[in-house]
Amino acid sequence: MKSTDLAKLEEQCIQDWEPPCVAACPVHVDIRGVVRAVRDGAFATGRNLFAKATPFVRVVSEFCDAPCQRACHRAAIDQAIGVRELERVCVRLGAVPPAGPSRAAKTQTVVVIGGGLCGLSAAFDLARKGYAVKLYERGSEVGGRLLTGRAAAARAALAADLEPLARFPVSIRLGRSVDLAEVVSTESVAALLDLPACDAVLVATGTADSSTPGVPVEANRAEGLETFATDLPGVFLAGDVRGADSPASWSPIAAISEGRRAATSIERFLQKVSLTYGRSLEGPYETRLFTDLSGVSPESPAAMADAARGFDPDEARAEAERCLLCACLECLKVCPYLEKHGSYPRVYARRVYNNLTVTKGNRTANRFINSCSLCGLCAEVCPTDLNMAPVCLEARRTMVAQGKMPPSVHDFALEELRRANSEACTLLRHAPGRQKSTHVFMPGCQLAASRPDSVAILYARLRERLGPEVGLMLRCCGAPAEWAGREDLLETSLATLREGVQKMGNPTVVVACPTCADILGRRAPDVTSVSLYEVLAA
Ligand code: SF4
Ligand code: SF4
Ligand code: SF4
Repeated sequence: MKSTDLAKLEEQCIQDWEPPCVAACPVHVDIRGVVRAVRDGAFATGRNLFAKATPFVRVVSEFCDAPCQRACHRAAIDQAIGVRELERVCVRLGAVPPAGPSRAAKTQTVVVIGGGLCGLSAAFDLARKGYAVKLYERGSEVGGRLLTGRAAAARAALAADLEPLARFPVSIRLGRSVDLAEVVSTESVAALLDLPACDAVLVATGTADSSTPGVPVEANRAEGLETFATDLPGVFLAGDVRGADSPASWSPIAAISEGRRAATSIERFLQKVSLTYGRSLEGPYETRLFTDLSGVSPESPAAMADAARGFDPDEARAEAERCLLCACLECLKVCPYLEKHGSYPRVYARRVYNNLTVTKGNRTANRFINSCSLCGLCAEVCPTDLNMAPVCLEARRTMVAQGKMPPSVHDFALEELRRANSEACTLLRHAPGRQKSTHVFMPGCQLAASRPDSVAILYARLRERLGPEVGLMLRCCGAPAEWAGREDLLETSLATLREGVQKMGNPTVVVACPTCADILGRRAPDVTSVSLYEVLAA
């Protein structure tokens, strides 16, 4: 397997795509993880998962406009899962110790202009990464549009979120407006604010009004992605100041997401790495994940006795139980072998690749590679037609070629093949008293060995149907050689079979075994064959 083949397989299996709720969430909360935590009553775990996506857990769990719920598969069946309420119960009941910056302090300073959710989100993300951040807000408090129309509750939630963030290296200066017309370089900003240094600037001042001079530049896009960078090195724009969002569509979670993405751009700028690489799935996107919804019954949303407080643990668990934990895994539903190995084809493909390319260490996928029955049922049910049979078969051939196939794996089947095609067990002849054959019956090694009485009955029946000139061929088609990756043995077996059929005058081979039919059809198409069952049904 080449690395490009592996990449194609990994692309083809869509199981790792996020469910629609997570793809629609601008910060991609691990909703299935939160749901599982709530089901287990592990609210601190749920809160931790939520906090990985945003430190503003109270603000978001109380005021998010929940685009995840609009995308939830349940919405089309009964009612979307109350994701925001599940997050809210985790925040309320899941006590976690406050975290500090996760990385060592860096020497660079970033100035953030604007203390709305976008600016705050960027500031704390950068501080978490170790940068010194100086945030300037022209008003008397931070929060921006979050406070519009819901000041008291929003202020309390924001204060609760900001309290543990006090340990981050962010200094917030209120009542300090910055003349945006003078934001023409990082140096100009440092001079304007009397700072010894400023390595990057984020302008996140919200919607510019006519009394506020605008920033003299616009944010750029690169390779179709929003980078929030401008033509001024080190100067970034995010949030409504970009003019991208109209006031009517303002969303707290979109603002937080934008701040987070701008922080990523700023860090990449300061680290002197690509602003765009690997970022195509930031912000909301369309997922490719398929989830079979047939057979899903409508279920009423969990009742909430006290809406002001939110779910209690039992109510939350009931709501979490409604979640479908959306996934594909169609192939695992039909293949016990794929299920038994504990993962799914995207992961299996990587394991197979590693197994074939490992130079030191264990070949841990030997059993997986050699267990597949090569039936191809996975491809029948897979929404992208991924077939693990050729993957496993090719891997076996490679292992044989490398001399890395453990002899024990296929020894039994190959010994069966050797015996079935030995002089003692093979037979090829015209019908008694006949010198030629229009057909020859090939019951296959399994039927002949296990039910010789049935072979005799079927042979007699075939002669009634097809006339007296039906010969008999007892042998194995060579399938075990193919299963074992032994192309040499398969070719030898097929050559002998072909030679025998030619000697009989090329009669049509009537095969009882579907595997024989498959092998002859694919590997010896020059030998005319027909299924026993088609003959009997005619
Ligand atoms: S943050 Fe908002 S959009 Fe994201 S999962 Fe939570 S409620 Fe949904
Ligand atoms: S059912 Fe659960 S996993 Fe599926 S989209 Fe809805 S919240 Fe997400
Ligand atoms: S059916 Fe299996 S192989 Fe196909 S996309 Fe789904 S998980 Fe992947």
